[in-house]
Amino acid sequence: MDSVKRSRVEAWLQYGNDLGLGPYFVTRTESAAPSLQASELSPTTSMNMAPAAKSSAKSAAAAAGSVATPLTAKATPSLPIISVPSGPTLFEAAERVPNETLDDIRADLGECTRCRLHKARTKLVFGVGNPKAELVFVGEGPGHDEDIQGEPFVGRAGKLLTQMIEAMSLRREDVYICNVVKCRPPENRLPDKDEIAVCSPFLLRQLAAIQPKVICCLGACSAQTLLATTQGISRFRGEWFDFRGSKLIATYHPAYLLRNPPAKSEVWKDLQKVMAVLGLQPKKR
Ligand code: URA
Repeated sequence: MDSVKRSRVEAWLQYGNDLGLGPYFVTRTESAAPSLQASELSPTTSMNMAPAAKSSAKSAAAAAGSVATPLTAKATPSLPIISVPSGPTLFEAAERVPNETLDDIRADLGECTRCRLHKARTKLVFGVGNPKAELVFVGEGPGHDEDIQGEPFVGRAGKLLTQMIEAMSLRREDVYICNVVKCRPPENRLPDKDEIAVCSPFLLRQLAAIQPKVICCLGACSAQTLLATTQGISRFRGEWFDFRGSKLIATYHPAYLLRNPPAKSEVWKDLQKVMAVLGLQPKKR
Protein backbone atom coordinates (compact mmCIF):
# COMPACT_ATOMS: atom_id res chain seq x y z
CA MET A 1 0.00 0.00 0.00
CA ASP A 2 1.41 3.43 -0.81
CA SER A 3 2.16 5.72 2.09
CA VAL A 4 -0.71 8.19 1.45
CA LYS A 5 -3.30 5.41 1.37
CA ARG A 6 -1.70 3.79 4.38
CA SER A 7 -1.86 6.96 6.48
CA ARG A 8 -5.51 7.50 5.45
CA VAL A 9 -6.39 3.97 6.52
CA GLU A 10 -4.44 4.44 9.76
CA ALA A 11 -6.29 7.68 10.48
CA TRP A 12 -9.69 5.99 9.99
CA LEU A 13 -8.71 3.03 12.14
CA GLN A 14 -7.46 5.34 14.86
CA TYR A 15 -10.72 7.31 14.64
CA GLY A 16 -12.68 4.08 15.19
CA ASN A 17 -10.39 3.20 18.06
CA ASP A 18 -10.92 6.64 19.63
CA LEU A 19 -14.65 6.09 19.46
CA GLY A 20 -14.22 2.87 21.42
CA LEU A 21 -15.01 0.68 18.40
CA GLY A 22 -11.61 -0.98 18.29
CA PRO A 23 -9.61 -3.06 18.32
CA TYR A 24 -11.29 -4.42 15.17
CA PHE A 25 -8.06 -4.03 13.24
CA VAL A 26 -6.13 -6.58 15.27
CA THR A 27 -5.12 -9.73 13.39
CA ARG A 28 -5.85 -13.25 14.43
CA THR A 29 -2.07 -13.87 14.45
CA GLU A 30 -0.86 -14.95 17.87
CA SER A 31 2.55 -13.36 18.22
CA ALA A 32 4.17 -10.92 20.59
CA ALA A 33 3.91 -7.21 19.82
CA PRO A 34 6.29 -4.67 21.35
CA SER A 35 3.47 -3.03 23.31
CA LEU A 36 -0.19 -3.69 23.89
CA GLN A 37 -3.20 -1.80 25.11
CA ALA A 38 -4.36 -2.45 28.66
CA SER A 39 -7.72 -3.57 27.31
CA GLU A 40 -5.91 -6.33 25.39
CA LEU A 41 -4.27 -7.82 28.48
CA SER A 42 -6.49 -10.83 28.10
CA PRO A 43 -8.54 -10.84 24.94
CA THR A 44 -10.92 -13.42 26.40
CA THR A 45 -11.91 -11.44 29.47
CA SER A 46 -14.69 -9.38 27.97
CA MET A 47 -16.34 -12.57 26.70
CA ASN A 48 -16.74 -13.69 30.28
CA MET A 49 -18.18 -10.41 31.51
CA ALA A 50 -21.83 -9.67 32.20
CA PRO A 51 -23.29 -7.34 29.53
CA ALA A 52 -23.52 -4.44 32.01
CA ALA A 53 -19.87 -4.79 32.94
CA LYS A 54 -18.94 -4.98 29.25
CA SER A 55 -20.72 -1.77 28.37
CA SER A 56 -19.38 -0.10 31.49
CA ALA A 57 -15.86 -0.99 30.43
CA LYS A 58 -16.51 0.27 26.92
CA SER A 59 -17.66 3.62 28.20
CA ALA A 60 -14.78 3.84 30.66
CA ALA A 61 -12.44 2.97 27.83
CA ALA A 62 -13.92 5.74 25.74
CA ALA A 63 -13.63 8.16 28.65
CA ALA A 64 -10.07 7.23 29.38
CA GLY A 65 -9.11 6.92 25.74
CA SER A 66 -7.36 3.53 26.09
CA VAL A 67 -4.05 5.09 26.87
CA ALA A 68 -2.16 2.82 29.21
CA THR A 69 0.50 0.34 28.22
CA PRO A 70 1.56 -2.40 30.61
CA LEU A 71 5.27 -2.55 31.20
CA THR A 72 5.26 -6.11 32.38
CA ALA A 73 2.16 -7.67 30.83
CA LYS A 74 2.35 -11.43 30.70
CA ALA A 75 -0.43 -12.02 28.16
CA THR A 76 0.38 -12.92 24.56
CA PRO A 77 -0.89 -10.00 22.51
CA SER A 78 -2.08 -10.08 18.93
CA LEU A 79 0.04 -8.35 16.35
CA PRO A 80 -1.79 -5.29 14.98
CA ILE A 81 -2.06 -5.18 11.17
CA ILE A 82 -1.39 -1.47 11.40
CA SER A 83 0.35 0.06 14.35
CA VAL A 84 -1.70 2.41 16.51
CA PRO A 85 -0.06 5.85 16.54
CA SER A 86 1.63 6.57 19.84
CA GLY A 87 0.50 10.25 19.88
CA PRO A 88 -2.56 11.46 21.79
CA THR A 89 -5.92 10.02 20.74
CA LEU A 90 -8.78 12.34 19.82
CA PHE A 91 -10.14 12.07 23.35
CA GLU A 92 -6.80 12.79 24.96
CA ALA A 93 -6.20 15.75 22.69
CA ALA A 94 -9.68 17.14 23.47
CA GLU A 95 -9.19 16.77 27.23
CA ARG A 96 -5.84 18.48 27.34
CA VAL A 97 -5.77 22.15 28.13
CA PRO A 98 -2.10 23.10 27.95
CA ASN A 99 -0.55 24.50 31.12
CA GLU A 100 -3.76 24.50 33.16
CA THR A 101 -3.41 24.33 36.93
CA LEU A 102 -5.42 22.40 39.47
CA ASP A 103 -7.11 25.70 40.39
CA ASP A 104 -8.13 26.18 36.74
CA ILE A 105 -9.63 22.68 36.69
CA ARG A 106 -11.45 23.26 39.99
CA ALA A 107 -12.83 26.53 38.63
CA ASP A 108 -14.01 24.75 35.48
CA LEU A 109 -15.82 22.13 37.58
CA GLY A 110 -17.56 24.90 39.51
CA GLU A 111 -20.73 23.89 41.34
CA CYS A 112 -20.99 20.94 38.99
CA THR A 113 -24.41 19.65 37.94
CA ARG A 114 -23.14 17.57 35.00
CA CYS A 115 -24.49 14.29 36.42
CA ARG A 116 -27.13 13.15 38.91
CA LEU A 117 -24.61 12.77 41.75
CA HIS A 118 -24.75 16.51 42.43
CA LYS A 119 -28.32 16.19 43.73
CA ALA A 120 -27.45 14.49 47.00
CA ARG A 121 -23.97 15.86 47.60
CA THR A 122 -23.06 18.07 50.53
CA LYS A 123 -19.62 19.07 49.23
CA LEU A 124 -17.86 18.35 45.97
CA VAL A 125 -14.60 16.54 46.74
CA PHE A 126 -12.02 17.72 44.23
CA GLY A 127 -8.71 16.47 45.62
CA VAL A 128 -6.13 17.44 48.16
CA GLY A 129 -2.37 17.61 48.52
CA ASN A 130 0.76 18.72 46.76
CA PRO A 131 0.07 20.07 43.25
CA LYS A 132 3.60 18.98 42.32
CA ALA A 133 3.37 15.57 43.95
CA GLU A 134 5.48 12.74 42.61
CA LEU A 135 2.83 10.32 43.83
CA VAL A 136 -0.94 10.54 43.27
CA PHE A 137 -3.44 8.18 44.86
CA VAL A 138 -6.72 7.77 42.99
CA GLY A 139 -9.75 6.33 44.77
CA GLU A 140 -13.30 5.68 43.63
CA GLY A 141 -15.50 8.42 44.98
CA PRO A 142 -16.27 10.25 48.22
CA GLY A 143 -18.02 8.45 51.05
CA HIS A 144 -20.09 9.93 53.86
CA ASP A 145 -17.24 11.64 55.75
CA GLU A 146 -15.64 12.98 52.59
CA ASP A 147 -18.99 14.37 51.43
CA ILE A 148 -19.37 16.28 54.71
CA GLN A 149 -15.79 17.56 54.86
CA GLY A 150 -15.10 18.09 51.15
CA GLU A 151 -11.81 16.21 51.39
CA PRO A 152 -10.96 12.75 50.01
CA PHE A 153 -10.11 9.82 52.23
CA VAL A 154 -10.86 11.26 55.65
CA GLY A 155 -13.10 8.45 56.96
CA ARG A 156 -11.99 5.03 58.26
CA ALA A 157 -10.52 3.99 54.91
CA GLY A 158 -8.85 7.39 54.72
CA LYS A 159 -7.19 6.92 58.10
CA LEU A 160 -5.78 3.63 56.85
CA LEU A 161 -4.57 5.35 53.68
CA THR A 162 -2.83 7.98 55.81
CA GLN A 163 -1.08 5.19 57.74
CA MET A 164 -0.02 3.60 54.45
CA ILE A 165 1.38 6.92 53.23
CA GLU A 166 3.27 7.42 56.49
CA ALA A 167 4.64 3.88 56.34
CA MET A 168 6.16 4.91 53.02
CA SER A 169 7.91 7.71 54.94
CA LEU A 170 5.74 10.36 53.32
CA ARG A 171 3.14 12.72 54.73
CA ARG A 172 -0.36 13.18 53.36
CA GLU A 173 0.59 16.68 52.24
CA ASP A 174 3.50 15.31 50.16
CA VAL A 175 1.21 13.33 47.87
CA TYR A 176 -1.98 14.21 45.98
CA ILE A 177 -5.20 12.32 46.68
CA CYS A 178 -8.30 12.36 44.50
CA ASN A 179 -11.08 10.19 43.15
CA VAL A 180 -12.67 9.12 39.87
CA VAL A 181 -15.97 10.84 40.74
CA LYS A 182 -16.08 14.02 42.75
CA CYS A 183 -19.50 13.63 44.38
CA ARG A 184 -20.68 10.88 46.71
CA PRO A 185 -22.71 8.13 45.09
CA PRO A 186 -25.82 7.59 47.26
CA GLU A 187 -25.53 4.76 49.81
CA ASN A 188 -21.88 4.42 48.75
CA ARG A 189 -22.92 2.51 45.65
CA LEU A 190 -20.41 2.13 42.79
CA PRO A 191 -20.39 5.11 40.46
CA ASP A 192 -22.44 4.43 37.31
CA LYS A 193 -20.73 4.27 33.94
CA ASP A 194 -22.29 7.55 32.76
CA GLU A 195 -21.20 9.29 35.98
CA ILE A 196 -17.65 8.03 35.43
CA ALA A 197 -17.74 9.08 31.79
CA VAL A 198 -18.73 12.64 32.74
CA CYS A 199 -16.39 13.03 35.71
CA SER A 200 -13.24 11.13 34.70
CA PRO A 201 -12.05 13.77 32.20
CA PHE A 202 -11.52 16.05 35.22
CA LEU A 203 -9.40 13.35 36.85
CA LEU A 204 -7.39 13.01 33.64
CA ARG A 205 -6.85 16.77 33.61
CA GLN A 206 -5.75 16.70 37.27
CA LEU A 207 -3.21 14.01 36.44
CA ALA A 208 -2.01 15.96 33.39
CA ALA A 209 -1.59 19.11 35.52
CA ILE A 210 0.36 17.30 38.25
CA GLN A 211 2.37 14.97 35.98
CA PRO A 212 3.32 12.66 38.85
CA LYS A 213 6.04 10.07 38.56
CA VAL A 214 3.67 7.44 39.94
CA ILE A 215 -0.10 7.04 39.99
CA CYS A 216 -1.37 4.50 42.51
CA CYS A 217 -4.92 3.37 41.81
CA LEU A 218 -6.80 2.34 44.93
CA GLY A 219 -9.28 -0.34 44.00
CA ALA A 220 -10.90 -1.59 40.84
CA CYS A 221 -12.90 1.49 39.90
CA SER A 222 -9.95 3.83 39.43
CA ALA A 223 -7.72 1.13 37.94
CA GLN A 224 -10.34 0.00 35.43
CA THR A 225 -11.19 3.58 34.52
CA LEU A 226 -7.62 4.70 33.89
CA LEU A 227 -6.51 1.45 32.26
CA ALA A 228 -9.72 1.16 30.24
CA THR A 229 -10.16 -2.47 31.15
CA THR A 230 -12.87 -4.67 32.64
CA GLN A 231 -10.40 -7.12 34.15
CA GLY A 232 -10.64 -7.80 37.85
CA ILE A 233 -8.00 -5.89 39.81
CA SER A 234 -6.46 -9.05 41.24
CA ARG A 235 -5.38 -9.97 37.67
CA PHE A 236 -3.11 -6.95 37.29
CA ARG A 237 -2.51 -5.41 40.72
CA GLY A 238 1.15 -4.91 41.44
CA GLU A 239 1.99 -4.66 37.71
CA TRP A 240 3.46 -1.49 36.26
CA PHE A 241 1.77 0.33 33.39
CA ASP A 242 2.75 3.38 31.38
CA PHE A 243 0.09 6.04 31.69
CA ARG A 244 0.63 9.23 29.73
CA GLY A 245 4.18 9.71 30.95
CA SER A 246 3.56 8.45 34.50
CA LYS A 247 4.04 4.96 35.88
CA LEU A 248 0.77 3.48 37.09
CA ILE A 249 0.23 0.69 39.57
CA ALA A 250 -3.02 -0.60 41.03
CA THR A 251 -3.49 -1.97 44.50
CA TYR A 252 -6.42 -2.90 46.70
CA HIS A 253 -8.66 -0.18 48.13
CA PRO A 254 -8.15 0.62 51.84
CA ALA A 255 -11.87 -0.05 52.44
CA TYR A 256 -11.28 -3.59 51.15
CA LEU A 257 -8.36 -3.92 53.58
CA LEU A 258 -10.65 -2.95 56.45
CA ARG A 259 -12.88 -5.89 55.50
CA ASN A 260 -9.99 -8.20 54.62
CA PRO A 261 -6.89 -7.36 56.73
CA PRO A 262 -4.76 -10.28 55.41
CA ALA A 263 -4.64 -8.49 52.03
CA LYS A 264 -2.55 -5.76 53.69
CA SER A 265 0.61 -7.71 53.00
CA GLU A 266 -0.13 -7.68 49.24
CA VAL A 267 -0.73 -3.95 49.36
CA TRP A 268 2.50 -3.39 51.25
CA LYS A 269 4.36 -5.26 48.50
CA ASP A 270 2.78 -2.92 45.92
CA LEU A 271 3.67 0.15 47.97
CA GLN A 272 7.24 -1.06 48.27
CA LYS A 273 7.42 -1.14 44.48
CA VAL A 274 6.24 2.47 44.45
CA MET A 275 8.84 3.37 47.07
CA ALA A 276 11.59 1.78 44.99
CA VAL A 277 10.63 3.92 41.99
CA LEU A 278 10.49 7.06 44.15
CA GLY A 279 13.71 6.22 46.00
CA LEU A 280 11.99 6.05 49.40
CA GLN A 281 13.10 4.00 52.41
CA PRO A 282 10.45 2.55 54.75
CA LYS A 283 9.80 4.58 57.86
CA LYS A 284 11.97 3.54 60.82
CA ARG A 285 9.89 2.52 63.81
N1 URA B 1 -13.19 5.88 49.27
C1 URA B 1 -12.77 6.43 48.11
O1 URA B 1 -12.63 5.76 47.09
N2 URA B 1 -12.50 7.73 48.12
C2 URA B 1 -12.63 8.49 49.19
O2 URA B 1 -12.36 9.67 49.09
C3 URA B 1 -13.06 7.88 50.38
C4 URA B 1 -13.33 6.58 50.40
